[in-house]
Amino acid sequence: MTRQFSVTTGSNLRCKGWRQEGLLRLLENVLAVGEDPANLVVYAALGRAARDWPSHDKIVETLRTMNDDETLIVQSGKPIGVLKTHERAPIVIMANCNMVGQWAKAENFYELEEKGLICWGGLTAGDWQYIGSQGVIQGTYEIFMRIGERHFDGELAGRFVLTAGLGGMGGAQPLAGRLAGAVTLCVEIDPERIRKRIENGFLEKQAANLDEALAMVAEARAAKRAISIGLLGNAADVYEDILARGIVPDVVTDQTSAHDLIYGYIPANRTLAEARAMRKDDPVRLMEDSRASIVRHVRAMLGFQKAGSVVFDNGNLIRTQARDGGVTDAFDIPIFTEAFLRPMFSRAIGPFRWIALSNDADDIRKIDDYVLAGFSDNRIVTNWIELARKNVPFEGLPARIAWLGHGERTKLGLAVNKMVREGVLSGPVAFTRDHLDAGAMAHPNIMTERMRDGSDAIADWPLLNALAMCSSQADLVAIHSGGGGYSGYMTSSGVTIIADGSPEADDRLRLSRPLSERI
Ligand code: NAD
Repeated sequence: MTRQFSVTTGSNLRCKGWRQEGLLRLLENVLAVGEDPANLVVYAALGRAARDWPSHDKIVETLRTMNDDETLIVQSGKPIGVLKTHERAPIVIMANCNMVGQWAKAENFYELEEKGLICWGGLTAGDWQYIGSQGVIQGTYEIFMRIGERHFDGELAGRFVLTAGLGGMGGAQPLAGRLAGAVTLCVEIDPERIRKRIENGFLEKQAANLDEALAMVAEARAAKRAISIGLLGNAADVYEDILARGIVPDVVTDQTSAHDLIYGYIPANRTLAEARAMRKDDPVRLMEDSRASIVRHVRAMLGFQKAGSVVFDNGNLIRTQARDGGVTDAFDIPIFTEAFLRPMFSRAIGPFRWIALSNDADDIRKIDDYVLAGFSDNRIVTNWIELARKNVPFEGLPARIAWLGHGERTKLGLAVNKMVREGVLSGPVAFTRDHLDAGAMAHPNIMTERMRDGSDAIADWPLLNALAMCSSQADLVAIHSGGGGYSGYMTSSGVTIIADGSPEADDRLRLSRPLSERI
C-alpha cells in the first residue's frame, strides 16, 4: 500500500472530541513533515512516530474511537491498551525506549529493534510533537546570538559559521544563521537533504565545490552580508580541508547524526549508498568506519578551536564518540546547553510551541500579534516573533516556537484558549513542551553536563516532571530514553495540551506548568 502523508485540517472531527482529534492531527503532522515517513522515521536518523505500521494504524483507530474518559497506553510506539480513567486524565500516556541501566547499550537496542520489541521516539517523534526544522530554529538562533554577544561585540554580521548536517534538526542552522546575520556554510553528504532545505526556504544557495563555497563566504564576509550556503561533501573531509588551507571560521559546530554510528553518521571513506548498504550487510565495520571518521572530524574541530574559532557541540554526542575513539581532549569543546542555554533554563525559560490544528496560518499570526503586545517587555521573545513571522516558513501545520519563562507560558496558554473559545481563532491550538526544557531531560553529555552540584546523571527530574504532568491533567505525557547511539545516555519527558476553548483546557494549561517553575 502506498501511503499518503498529509494532515486532516478544518473543523470536522473524526474523533469523539478535540483532545483525541488534536493528538491525531499531530501524529499525522510529524509524518507529513518527517524525514522518511514511509519508514515512520521523523528525524535524528531513527526517531520514529510509532513502532511499525500495524501499531500506527491501531493508534489511529483508537484515537478515533476512544471516549473522553479513557487513556491510551503506548509502549515504545505500540498501543497496548485503553484504560477506563476519567475525563480529567490524559488521553495518551507513553513510555518509549526505556531500557534497564546496564542493558541500555546501542547493540542491545538494535537487537531489540530488529525483533520489533522497541522503538526510539527521539525527543519529539514518538510523542508527535515535531514541527519540522522550525521546531529547533529559535534555540539555534539564540545560541548564535549569545555567541555574537559574548565573542563578537554583539553581532555576527560578517562572521563565518561553519557547520554540517541538513537533516530534520540541522536543517534549521542555515536559516538561524542568516537571521543572526552570519555567513553560514553547511556541509551535507546527502544531496536530497540540500534540495529539501532549499525547497522549503531554510537554505539559500548550494555551492558547486569547496572553492566556490569559500569564495562565496569570503565575498559575503567582506560585505557583511548574511547568507546561507550548502555544500555537498563529507564534513570530516571538508573540515580538514578548510583547516589545512589556514582558513579560520569564527564559529564551528556540527549537527550530523553523529550520535548513531550505524543509522546516522556517514563515514568519510564511504559513499552514502555504501554506508546505507552496510547498515544491514556489515554494521560492525560501519561503526568502526564512522568512529574513525568522527575522530578526524573532531580533531579538525579542535584544530579550529586552537586557531581561534568559537567551537561548540550542538547536542549530537560527537565529542563522546570521538573520546571513545581516543581523542582524549574532545571535551575541550563545550556543549551548547551549558555554554549558552543554561542561563535561560535556570530562570525556567524554555522552548514552548503552539500549533494551529485547523491549519489556518492566520491563527498563528493572530497569536503572534497577541505575543507582541502581551509580552512587549520581553525583548528576546518579541524580537524572535518579529523575525519568525517575516522569515520562518511554515512546514506542515502552521506553528510557532518561542522561549517563554516563568508564568509566561501559562499566560499565553490561557489567552489562546480564550481566543479559541471566543471564535477569534478558527480552531483549537496544541501546546507542547519539548523534552529540551528545564528539568525535562537528564543527559550528562548534553543537557545536564557539568551541573554545579554534580547531579548530571540523576534522571529523577524528567520522571517527576512526567508524573506531575499526569496529575496536572495534561493531554499527552511521554517518558523517553535514548535509542541507537543515544542508548544509556538520556532520559527525558514531554507534554502536550490541546487548547480547545473549554474551561477544562484552562485548568490543564494552568496546572501543567514545568516543574522547575512550580517548586
Ligand atoms: P538527521 O538524521 O535528520 O540529519 C543528519 C544529517 O547529517 C543527514 O542529513 C545526514 O545526511 C548528514 N550527515 C551524516 N553524516 C555526515 C557527514 N559525515 N558529513 C556531512 N553530512 C552528514 O538528524 P537531525 O534531526 O538533523 O539531528 C542531527 C543531530 O542533532 C542528531 O544527533 C540529533 O540527536 C541532534 N539534535 C540536537 C538538538 C539540539 O537542540 N541541539 C535537537 C535535536 C537533535
